[in-house]
Amino acid sequence: MNIPFNKPHLTGKEAHYMYEAVFDGKLSGNGKFTRRCQQYLEERYGFRKCLLTTSCTDALEMAAMLCDIKPGDEVIVPSYTFVSSALAFVRAGAKVVFADSMKRNPNIDADQIESLITPRTRVIVPVHYAGVACDMDKIMEVANRHGLLVVEDAAQAIDSFYKGRPLGGIGHLATFSFHETKNIISGEGGCLCINDDRFVRRAEIIWEKGTNRAEFFRGEVNKYGWVDIGSSFLPSEVVSAFLWAQLESLDEIQLRRRSLWQRYLERLFPLAGSGRFRLPDIPDYATNNAHMFYLVCHSLAERSALIDRLKGSGMLAVFHYLSLHSSPFYRDRHDGRTLPECDRYADCLVRLPLYYDLLLEDVDAICDLIGGA
Ligand SMILES: *Cc1c(COP(=O)(O)O)cnc(C)c1O
Repeated sequence: MNIPFNKPHLTGKEAHYMYEAVFDGKLSGNGKFTRRCQQYLEERYGFRKCLLTTSCTDALEMAAMLCDIKPGDEVIVPSYTFVSSALAFVRAGAKVVFADSMKRNPNIDADQIESLITPRTRVIVPVHYAGVACDMDKIMEVANRHGLLVVEDAAQAIDSFYKGRPLGGIGHLATFSFHETKNIISGEGGCLCINDDRFVRRAEIIWEKGTNRAEFFRGEVNKYGWVDIGSSFLPSEVVSAFLWAQLESLDEIQLRRRSLWQRYLERLFPLAGSGRFRLPDIPDYATNNAHMFYLVCHSLAERSALIDRLKGSGMLAVFHYLSLHSSPFYRDRHDGRTLPECDRYADCLVRLPLYYDLLLEDVDAICDLIGGA
């Protein structure tokens, strides 16, 4: 067998729309396809304003600029996450205060956040791990009470909800990723959602290299110039055209991913009952967007044995996220607190293959092997 961990899915329309973008003769950013994707996300999920970016990392950097992070400001980020959730704020001069995960799932422990707040705290960054919502009511309540901003890292959370509200639409700002390992892809790509009116105008300026070019194109000003900081965050129309094909198939992609996820659950549920590992946890307040199927083993040794056994049969399962608070870059900057739940997920969590073109038979074969059949 040869089952990779991930395989980018093509809907079949990507090349068609990319060809259209090329023959329209409009290749740079903020053209027809970019606006179509942004409008689709705004209308479908009620996001106040969406701006496509070249990655989720870029969208997070835009968020750090919009939050006006100054050297010495503190930002609360879970330690069990991808580097970018912290890096974007560190680049702006922030000190990252790492938070631990919950016992029940890898998301930030909302009950611990308040104890990490100091007079220098500016922003909280909840990361919706595996597309499963953090406890956003608690997080927004603490943030509002202390006058903090919330930036949702919703990189994995397209089409997922918290108490019926779409993830990416709850924090002041939010970011999505369309990297080829996510549910909806454009190779590299991302989106910044601006849910607070105060940030809309400045977000467009930061997006367009510190100029008010977007206003000029709408005819709101008769010339444009350099008005603020910014960078080149726009994807080209060729990339947005690819993304449009994916968004058009969002429901179909989600349906397929959910059925594969459900199959894993059905097949692994009896094994989890015998206590060999824990299955993904989805709290009552959250939905499952089938971004990821993971297991939590009892130890690093048991996880390594499982990954090796699957690999021996040509099935690629992977682990990820080494605790950021003990990373070579940050360990000397970290305040020394231990984050035991984060370390446990770093040692014990394993991700199983999950992609559109995976077959139900593949899932069965993987589960049989896990069960030792
Ligand atoms: C994938 C991912 C990112 C980075 O996304 P890019 O588009 O590759 O920059 C950031 N945060 C989380 C939680 C992710 O899963």
